[in-house]
Formats: sequence, structure tokens, C-alpha cells
Amino acid sequence: MKISGQLTVDDLPRICPLLCRQTNPRYGEDQTRVVEVRGVRFGNGRPVVIAGPCAVESHEQTMAVARAVKRAGGDMLRGGAYKPRTSPHDFQGTGAEGLCILRIAREETGLPIVTEVMDTRLVEQVAEYADMLQIGSRNMQNYPLLAEVGRAGKPVLLKRGMAASLGEWLGAAEYIAKQGNLNIVLCERGIKAFPAGEYSRYVLDLNVIPAVLANTFLPVIVDPSHATGVASMVEPASRAALEFGSHGLMIEVADFASGRPRCDADQAINGETLARIVKFAHQRHERLLTAQQVTA
Ligand code: PEP
Ligand code: MN
Repeated sequence: MKISGQLTVDDLPRICPLLCRQTNPRYGEDQTRVVEVRGVRFGNGRPVVIAGPCAVESHEQTMAVARAVKRAGGDMLRGGAYKPRTSPHDFQGTGAEGLCILRIAREETGLPIVTEVMDTRLVEQVAEYADMLQIGSRNMQNYPLLAEVGRAGKPVLLKRGMAASLGEWLGAAEYIAKQGNLNIVLCERGIKAFPAGEYSRYVLDLNVIPAVLANTFLPVIVDPSHATGVASMVEPASRAALEFGSHGLMIEVADFASGRPRCDADQAINGETLARIVKFAHQRHERLLTAQQVTA
């Protein structure tokens, strides 16, 4: 029985011809498009670690976390100035002021910035400050927003919808690509399944990483923080993601000495744990390079 809208990987060449391996043979079976963000390169073999607070709350908090990320060897700084929150009564982020704080943090640390944009009317404003625009899980299928972000001329981090199939995720990426912007990095951040809330926040879908690598030439990273919702799971989930072929990680970090974060405090790790994850990522990469040289 054929059901309308039901997708399989066989439909990908029709859904996302601009991004699909099958329709772009120049990438072969395993080449990745390198996406560059202010000198940071996703997909060139060396894993990229993005880290920072869930939300930009204040100048002090953001600077403390940014310095910790820099010390730990992180490549980029994350932080939401505009936050998608479940309740409209919850803290919504610091908006334009948060963008200014991120800019100051970049000036001091040199770390490029990725931050979320949720509204077509704010794409121009956010693009003025950010080095990379983040589309959050809840907006993965906001098609006008995807098109607007595609026209903004900045690389895009496209998080997977929490209940999105691979076809829906790559279809969303195609909306950005259709505007002439192929500088897209995909981010797996956990999907909705029955453990939700019982022992973890979402279910980290590691299996999707090899599927992404097989079907598109875009780089893909993993967000172990939202996927698990539990700080103690972030480090093992990070290692597992790299073993599955992830091109990088996006991790929430807090500086607990300067106060408890206003959002997602239970999944935030400290700078020391981040440093261990970065070290693991780099050493693993070095080992792979050495092994390749030996067999070459
Ligand atoms: C985030 O990364 O700041 C975020 C809100 O994550 P997600 O969109 O995956 O829920
Ligand atoms: Mn968060």
C-alpha cells in the first residue's frame, strides 16, 4: 500500500536533489562538503566542538562560560539570545542585548558564534551578529524561516526536529539549499520516544549518523546535552557520537561558580568535563590519522 507523504530513503533524490549523494556524484560515496565558519571547518576530518551556555543570561555569565570554553579547547561558542521555551511565562532570553554580549565574547576569545533565530523578522538582526545561524528543533519545519535563513548569506546549523524522519530533516535542509546556500551543518539532538522524562530527556539517535553520512554530503554533528538532558550522560554520549562518525559536537556548559543557569541547568557540564571531551575528540582524530598513514 502506498501512503501519501510516507518517505523512504529511495525518495531522497526527489526530495533533496541539491543535497543528496545519489544526485551529486562528485562527492562520491564518502566525501563531505567542508563548511567553513570564520576559519572553523566542519567535515574535514577534525571534529569541531561547539560549546557554551544554553541561554545568554548576562555579560558576566556568558564571559565566564566563554572563557571556560576557550580554556577547554572548544572551537566555537554557542548561546541562545532568543530562546524557544515551552511556556511563554519562562525566561525568553535576553534578545538583542544577548547578541551584543555574544559579540563581546567573540572579541575577547576569538571564538566564532552560533546562535538561534526563531523569527523571519529577526533573521537580518541575528545574522549581523552571528557567524552561524541556528535553526532549532521546534522550527525545523518552519519553511518560510528556512528560506529566509537561506538568503541571509551565513552558514546554518540545522537541528533535527525532535520527531522528524531523515527525509523530513533533509527536506528542511533543501529549503535552505534552494536559496543558494549549501553551507549547512546538520545537528542530531535527540528524538521523542517513550523514555522521555523517565531516565533521559530524549533518545539520542546515534543510528541516524551513518544514515546521514550515506545519503548526503553535508557534515553532521551531535548535541548530547539536549539529547540526554542529564549532565553525567553528556561525556559518554559525546564519545559514542564520535565513534558513530559525527563531525563534531554541540555541548551546553555552565560556570556554576557564577550561578546556576536559568535554563537546562541539569544537563550543563563544567569546563573540566568539556576539556576531557575535547581531548578525547582530538586524540581519537590523531589516532585515526596515524592509522591511515600506516596503511597508506
Ligand atoms: C538549543 O540548542 O539552544 C536548543 C534550544 O535546542 P533544540 O532546538 O534542539 O531543542
Ligand atoms: Mn538548552
